[in-house]
Formats: sequence, C-alpha cells, structure tokens
Amino acid sequence: MLRLTSQIIVFILFISAVTISSLRAEVPVFNSESAWNYLLAQCEFGPRNPGSEGHVKCRDYLKDELLKFTGRVRLQPFTFYDSRLRKNFDMYNIIADFGSETGAKIILCAHWDTRPRSDCDPDPAKRHLPILGANDGASGVAVLLEMARMFAVNPPPVPVQIIFFDGEDYGREGEIWDYLLGSKHFAKTIDARDYRYAVLLDLIGDEDLEIKKEYHSYQYSPDLMERIWKIARRLGIDQFSSRIQLPVIDDHISLIEIGIPAVDLIDFEYRYWHTQEDTPEHCRQESLEAVGRVLTELIYTEED
Ligand SMILES: [Zn+2]
Repeated sequence: MLRLTSQIIVFILFISAVTISSLRAEVPVFNSESAWNYLLAQCEFGPRNPGSEGHVKCRDYLKDELLKFTGRVRLQPFTFYDSRLRKNFDMYNIIADFGSETGAKIILCAHWDTRPRSDCDPDPAKRHLPILGANDGASGVAVLLEMARMFAVNPPPVPVQIIFFDGEDYGREGEIWDYLLGSKHFAKTIDARDYRYAVLLDLIGDEDLEIKKEYHSYQYSPDLMERIWKIARRLGIDQFSSRIQLPVIDDHISLIEIGIPAVDLIDFEYRYWHTQEDTPEHCRQESLEAVGRVLTELIYTEED
C-alpha cells in the first residue's frame, strides 16, 4: 500500500513536470543577436529626425521589415508645424498588428525618431547637430522588431499592436508641448476600450542598464508594473531594479491620459543622453536581451 502510494506520487509529480515543461515550451526564446542587428541597421541610416533623409529611409525600412512578419501594417501620417522654424514636418507613426483580430489589444511601443539636436553635448559647437540615437530611439525599436519577427513564427496568445511613435524627441528643452507628438496624435484616433494595457520601451540599450520603477507608471499602472517586475525576478533578470525613478515625460503619458494602463521601461541615467556619443558602442546586446526576455514572458503567459 505504501509502495503504491509513493508510485502514484511519483507519477503525479512526473505528470505535473511534463505539464509545466510543455507550458514553458510555448514561450519562445528571444533572439538578442537579431535585436542587436536591428539596432545597428537603424543607426546605419544616420540621424532619423523628422525632415532628414535618414527619417524617410528608416520609415520605409521599418514598414518593410514589419511587412515581412504581418500583413497588418499601416503608416499613420500627421503634420507638425514648427512655429519657430515656420515649417511643416511630415511625421509617421508605424503600426503593426499581430494575433487575433478580435479582443482587446496589448500595445508594445517605442519612439523611432531621433532628436534633431545634441543639446546635452559637452561641446557647445556640436549642440546643433542631430543625434544618432543608438540608445535613444533605436534600442526600443530593435527589441520590438525582434518581437515582431517572433510573433510571425509563434503567434501571440492575445492581440498585440506594435507601435513606433514619431516625434517623441522633437521638442526643445523646457517646451514640453513639442514632445510626444506621435503618441498624442495616436491617442486622439483610438478608443481606449479596445486596449488592455501598454508597455513603452525607451533608452533600454544602455551599457549598464538599470530599469527603475518610473514614477508615473508606478502611480497609474501599479498592477502591470508589479507583474513585469515579478517576471524579471522569476527569470533572475537583475537589470530591473526595485528603486523608484523620478517621473519621466514620455509617450506612456499620452496613453495613461486616455485611460490605458501603461508602463515605461526606461533607464534615464545614460551618460550620453542627447549627445553625439549616443552610439552603438555605448549600448549592449545583453541589455536588449534582458528587456526582450521579460516582454516575451509577459506576452506568452498572457491569457486570452
Ligand atoms: Zn531623447
């Protein structure tokens, strides 16, 4: 009798192990090498600020790349008038859908534009130059392009919308109304009830990545934030820190304002922020991997 019981216990343990491993097997592996190549590919276009040649080329590249992974890609054009320059700028959000065509969507987003000036460069003579934006622009987009590639092979269990926002970093220091242009435009065109939540990536490629709990996200989307940090802890990803980050004005604000819970994954302590030195050599593949793994786990453990 005793023997039989222990055999049954062993059997039950075996079955649960099989079940757990088969559940785990459904979470694909995030390919950080491919993500890193996406970071480099964007930087090869040079600065990607609105009005530049790199902006047009990178827009087409991002659209074409997404079209390899889903037929549901669209550009959302809008115009921004810079009253100082007395000039119109054509801007484009790039939107791609994955998974079921019905049900509330999860937004994964990042800004794809780069800053038209290097206002924090230590050399005043360089401050009028546009930045390359390897971390500030390319890093978040790189992780999401790789997620898109993954979604094509392993459709997500829930509808996911990847959005690359334009015009996030256009504004001059202190003139906050000229920032977040793409996300503000996007927020005016949607019904928040069609969305579950949003995760924004910005400045996540830093060579010594530490993602703290950004205060606006912490304040307005505590449950989502807790879920993300719990996943990071479970996976042993220590780039996610339990310290609080002072509030950051970023694209998640545009979504929070219309009632979509949103978390900004950002490492705001980047030495080369808004300088000519925001280049791939100050970024790391491991940082993209840390964020990519957490996002992959978040999406594939989501229940429909
Ligand atoms: Zn920036």
